[in-house]
Amino acid sequence: MKAVSISFGNQQKQTENKPESSTLRKVLGISLGTVAGAILPYNTFKTAISTCDVTTKGIILQFHHFTMPDIDSFSHNKEAAENALERTGLKGKGVKLFIANKNNVAEIKNIIAGDFPHCYPFRNRIIESFAQQCSNGINACYTEKEKNIIINSKELFSAVFHEIGHAMNANNSIFMKLIQKAKRITPFGVPIVGLGFLAMGLLHKTKPEEKDKSKFEKSKDFIKNNAGKLTFLTFLPMLIEEGAASIKGLKLAKKCFKPEQVTRLSKNYLFAYSTYFTVAVLSSLLISLGIKIKDKIAPN
Ligand SMILES: [Zn+2]
Repeated sequence: MKAVSISFGNQQKQTENKPESSTLRKVLGISLGTVAGAILPYNTFKTAISTCDVTTKGIILQFHHFTMPDIDSFSHNKEAAENALERTGLKGKGVKLFIANKNNVAEIKNIIAGDFPHCYPFRNRIIESFAQQCSNGINACYTEKEKNIIINSKELFSAVFHEIGHAMNANNSIFMKLIQKAKRITPFGVPIVGLGFLAMGLLHKTKPEEKDKSKFEKSKDFIKNNAGKLTFLTFLPMLIEEGAASIKGLKLAKKCFKPEQVTRLSKNYLFAYSTYFTVAVLSSLLISLGIKIKDKIAPN
């Protein structure tokens, strides 16, 4: 197998003896760099706060049927999930299933709202969007505050074991609970801190190498030169926690389903995981690219 190497780094520029770039070049460089680095986070965020129309919902559902087909009937999944909640001790800790459908959006909103403090930016739109997704079966989730596992009765119900995995992370392990909290630095796959690295990389001018550079100056150089790699690091809590939820969920499913069903489920979960991984890699690469574009257009 061929090894593929991905470089997130930005080569340090030697700016010595080079003329200052014109203001126009700087503005153009920063603008194009911003577009390249922020376009994916912008779209990810836009998706998180918007509710989709009937046609888009239909397309997403068809896509899910193709990529992540359910492995058994809803009733068997539900029964197995309730068994798993007993076995793992989650039921005793107050974790319960909530079955979403088209008629209980208001209830779903109330449950989800508990996880978002009132000062949370775009709170109402995020809650509305998430509740609609669960009600239409294009998403499932575990809510921390209310300890509800929200799954749909018609679509995507095999995701229940992954969501139980999230509940296990939150309730059965202090370390995983901390990782779960840490994943808030990339909410909905948006690299909040990474965008800060992008802004610094676009605005910071690397001075020629001098012995008396301050630690602060050196830190800014480091962030600028490694913005992509650092952004990817900020995604690690999300990638670790999502992966752990799937592994735990699959272990539970093994006890209730045939091996071929578990194989199908693991493929489903692997596909879902690949979407998280792709967002992490692409966002990191694009942030690195944005800084490279700016440096190419206006090096100084
Ligand atoms: Zn998940």
